[in-house]
Amino acid sequence: MSQKRRPTFVLDTSAIIYGFNPQLIDGEHFITPLVVAELSGRKTKALVDLFLSSGRLKLRAPSDETKNHVKIQASSTGDLPVLSETDLEVVALALELKTEDQEPVVVSDDYSLQNLCNLLSISFKPMVTKGISQEYWWLIYCPACGETYEPTSKFTTCKICGHALKRKVYSKRQISNDRSE
Ligand SMILES: [Zn+2]
Repeated sequence: MSQKRRPTFVLDTSAIIYGFNPQLIDGEHFITPLVVAELSGRKTKALVDLFLSSGRLKLRAPSDETKNHVKIQASSTGDLPVLSETDLEVVALALELKTEDQEPVVVSDDYSLQNLCNLLSISFKPMVTKGISQEYWWLIYCPACGETYEPTSKFTTCKICGHALKRKVYSKRQISNDRSE
């Protein structure tokens, strides 16, 4: 694996409200139409428009097919009633990017949305709790299957596939310098 991947972020409404700034974090950044709609009337909307016009943030909607797939998965966990159309759209876009061989990270503080990401083996990061807003940003992950775990998790091996887990620590400096392993 010599190919160096840039991180790909899919931002939900809470990420924007809590101040995720795509200009400070290296990688590709996506937002969905329903997230933009939820931001209308907020101060952050002007900022989002600016990021969109500069190309730092990309607007993209997932296909209906992917959204339906996510809905079926969500109903199997019982999370569907608490998920909004926006949440489903965010997760569906992440899933779609994954099928395009990217490694999306959903940025959200919504636990139901995080659960759904877990179910679909999509990485996620909260903004406020142990998240990007702090100086160091880290996650525990399985290098074999890609499962992610809470930084406070006591697991040392993957509960899905049994592989030894790794901990990855990023500093904001590393992220903005486009450093990755
Ligand atoms: Zn694993």
